[in-house]
Amino acid sequence: MQAVVTGGAGFIGSHLCDYLIAHGHEVVALDDMSTGSEDNLQQLVGNPSFELVKGSILDKELVNDLISGSDTVFHLAAAVGVHTIVDNPLSSLRTNLHGTENVVEAAAEHGARYMVASTSEVYGKNDSDGLTENADRILGSPLKSRWSYAAAKGLDELVAYVYGEETGLPCVITRFFNIVGPRQTGRYGMVVPRFVSQALAGEPITVYGDGRQRRCFGSVFDIIPAVVELLENPSGHTQAVNLGGMEEVSIKGLADRVIQLTGSSSEIRFIPYEDAYGAGYEDMQRRMPDTTLARQLIGYEPQRSLDDIIM
Ligand code: NAD
Repeated sequence: MQAVVTGGAGFIGSHLCDYLIAHGHEVVALDDMSTGSEDNLQQLVGNPSFELVKGSILDKELVNDLISGSDTVFHLAAAVGVHTIVDNPLSSLRTNLHGTENVVEAAAEHGARYMVASTSEVYGKNDSDGLTENADRILGSPLKSRWSYAAAKGLDELVAYVYGEETGLPCVITRFFNIVGPRQTGRYGMVVPRFVSQALAGEPITVYGDGRQRRCFGSVFDIIPAVVELLENPSGHTQAVNLGGMEEVSIKGLADRVIQLTGSSSEIRFIPYEDAYGAGYEDMQRRMPDTTLARQLIGYEPQRSLDDIIM
């Protein structure tokens, strides 16, 4: 395949580039380096099958030009991270909405199959057991969601879906639930790398809220092959598919586990949500994917445990 990976210098995107190159594909990564880093792609520098283009998905001409030479597009570029989104809601909305329009439009014009990265946030403030795609296969509940991020991702899903239906091109929407792994930084509010770096530095581990909120964490190494398989498998096309881990843990339990695995002497410090994110912030008590659809479509079975993910 001749693939374009938007957000290719980011956490998930760089692992996807590694995976595609290792499987013999040609890859162009497009990234504006806002949260991504060239360090994530060090291992691919000089590889004749790989090219990094620094630029924005908001540059319609550039996006169109790159995609015109490809047959497959993985669209991962987005403004991400709680702080980025809370501090810059409207510019995040612009990137996540218009950038996706540019990418999907170019894929449609040039007949490239495409994948669009979405998020568990489209389920809104819903903490029922095992969030499933069946009730709201497309669009989730963006009007009951947190932040412009979720609303934009919900609209991205709709754009991806409608273009897929109209053009008949293979397309897949992946709803990621808390994906974790090497190269993810804690700078943008991601909880696992933040806890690990606090533990390794012997600093207090800062738990927002009372720590009883429960989450599942998925390994990037489990989801990358699943993303590629979903796009290659016709039965997954034009669907939104949950991807994530299944092992549930409270955030306080996660902090305890990180302290234990790193042998740290850090204490746990509880910070009220409003101090961390400002007044009016709400968090879900539970966030767990139902991955039945991914299991049915591609036999998705996450292999990595929470301890594997932390270590
Ligand atoms: P990341 O910040 O590491 O990756 C996003 C990449 O997009 C970065 O490299 C950034 O520089 C790039 N980018 C941002 N704006 C851009 C623009 N205008 N033009 C070009 N590049 C731009 O974050 P990630 O965790 O790897 O996220 C990848 C995708 O997965 C995102 O779409 C995100 O919304 C989605 N997602 C991730 C998670 C998770 O748990 N990591 C959960 C849900 C959804």
